Amino acid sequence: MASVLVVEDDRDIRELLRRYLERDGHGVLTTGSGAEALNLLAAGGVDLVLLDLGLPDVDGLDVLAAARDHEPSVPTVVLSARGTVPERILGLRAGADDYVTKPFSPAEVVLRVAAVLARVGGAGAGGGAGASAYGDGRLRIDEPARRAWLDDGELELTPTEWGVLVTLAGTPGRVYSRSELVNRVRGYEFAGYERSIDSHVKNLRRKLGADATAIVATVLGAGYRFGWTRD
Ligand code: CA
Repeated sequence: MASVLVVEDDRDIRELLRRYLERDGHGVLTTGSGAEALNLLAAGGVDLVLLDLGLPDVDGLDVLAAARDHEPSVPTVVLSARGTVPERILGLRAGADDYVTKPFSPAEVVLRVAAVLARVGGAGAGGGAGASAYGDGRLRIDEPARRAWLDDGELELTPTEWGVLVTLAGTPGRVYSRSELVNRVRGYEFAGYERSIDSHVKNLRRKLGADATAIVATVLGAGYRFGWTRD
């Protein structure tokens, strides 16, 4: 599962892309703000940016530059209204990996995203990545199969618990705020949902047993992080 960040200030288009990308098996983060996009990029864990260049607060090209300059660099597919030739050239020169002009078919955007991910060998490229192991093999997560095991016992997780675990384990050590977790797991910002993430974490920890708070660690005043390292 690749993590795709959709940066688009038009809410309808944003939600449309989210639905299509999720249906294609991607984890989707969305924002209508270029400033928030810069923060999310800096925080790490984004595999691809789907970027509208015309943003209300920040020049889309600045977001493009931030994605390109990120370590490791994050591939970008640019969305733009009525792609004029100069703009098209500008986008590609600035480091965009592909370019789609509005109005577009969301199915085509999904295909372009998959093609770019395959090209860069991203997490969504398939190729039988299989299970990732953590804590000297004690915890294994097989994302494509959507299964996880702890000490050889398979974990029975709800979709939200699974989303929390996979999100945190995707970048061990990185602190996720509650709102980021909600956005990752549910794919959208939902006011009032932030606190309920705590109850999902509580249930997830119950299933993780004695090492639960070491695996899913609380960072006071900040959120949660995955406390074990990847093998
Ligand atoms: Ca726009």
